[in-house]
Amino acid sequence: MVSDLGGELLFDAGVTKAHVVDRCRLDREMAQRAADAGAEFLLKTSVSGIQGSTLLTRGIRGREEIPFRLVIAADGPRSSIARMLGLRRPEIYLGGVQAEVPCRVDPRYVELHPNASPDFFGWVIPISATRARIGLCAKEHAKEHLDRFVARYGGSCTHLVSGVIPLGVMPRTYGHRVLFVGDAAGFPKPTSGGGIYTGIRSAKHAAEVAVACCARREFDDASLQDYERLWREDFGRELDIGLKMLRVRQKMTPEEIDRLCRILNDPDLIETIVEHGDMDRPGALIKKLALKPALIRGMGMLFASKIRQILKG
Ligand SMILES: Cc1cc2nc3c(=O)[nH]c(=O)nc-3n(C[C@H](O)[C@H](O)[C@H](O)COP(=O)(O)OP(=O)(O)OC[C@H]3O[C@@H](n4cnc5c(N)ncnc54)[C@H](O)[C@@H]3O)c2cc1C
Repeated sequence: MVSDLGGELLFDAGVTKAHVVDRCRLDREMAQRAADAGAEFLLKTSVSGIQGSTLLTRGIRGREEIPFRLVIAADGPRSSIARMLGLRRPEIYLGGVQAEVPCRVDPRYVELHPNASPDFFGWVIPISATRARIGLCAKEHAKEHLDRFVARYGGSCTHLVSGVIPLGVMPRTYGHRVLFVGDAAGFPKPTSGGGIYTGIRSAKHAAEVAVACCARREFDDASLQDYERLWREDFGRELDIGLKMLRVRQKMTPEEIDRLCRILNDPDLIETIVEHGDMDRPGALIKKLALKPALIRGMGMLFASKIRQILKG
């Protein structure tokens, strides 16, 4: 269910297909499985250089040189490996900030606030009836926008986390015996900034290609390009649509966003969102909504045909 609050949307977390993941537990379980499969971890060590097929590292064991056949670069939004190789990076970087805030919220609903940030949106995710995770993304001054947003809920913040969200995939996600996965490649979804789902999917495709390359002992670019084909077939179109939708959103005025929120309160549109809404694959829902008479009436023919154009392209 969705309801309008003057430019805000409430999503019943139990009905829309959103999954809450305990990130610490996810990381711990993945690390455990990697160790069980034979992975060796070099803690407090970072890659400081790459020379041919040797990684240079620096850390508590001092400087080391580690020969490799293939690297899977999962080194996050600032990807030092991409920079060391002089590769073109994702095109947009947003600041993301989130705080835990003591406040009264309805624990049944996740709130989305498209007007909390000039370029993206804000969210309120209830932890209980008296506590929520409140956050937003913005191109600039994210913390100032968050302070203003949190003030609506009483203003006091604990457990502040912040980071960079890269959007718009790097033009080539492989090369020089390296496959780029997760934020390093720019895989977060432009419609939500979420990068866990696409990060894990990309890692799965990278692993498949890495195993095949190792079996054939072929690590040239022609052998690695299968990786790009696999992730594009899986979620590439969703990312393309998401980036175009983000550009449309960034051109909308606060009044237009308010109007859109009010229109989405139509019972027929609510039913469509409940039936087809999927945080990880929003393309199908956008397609359905763009055909709805209530949206065309409310936002105008031009807006609806722009959206349909995006979905065709
Ligand atoms: C405030 C905020 C809220 C978010 N909320 C959500 C959400 O609700 N859902 C969602 O799906 N996503 C969310 N995201 C995005 C999500 O956190 C990222 O997409 C995800 O963490 C990317 O995972 P990753 O493994 O690719 O990169 P990272 O998690 O950034 O991990 C990269 C790792 O590489 C290491 N590293 C970097 N350089 C080197 C080097 N030279 N040598 C060795 N190691 C190196 C780093 O230390 C780090 O441990 C949020 C992001 C922010 C900032």
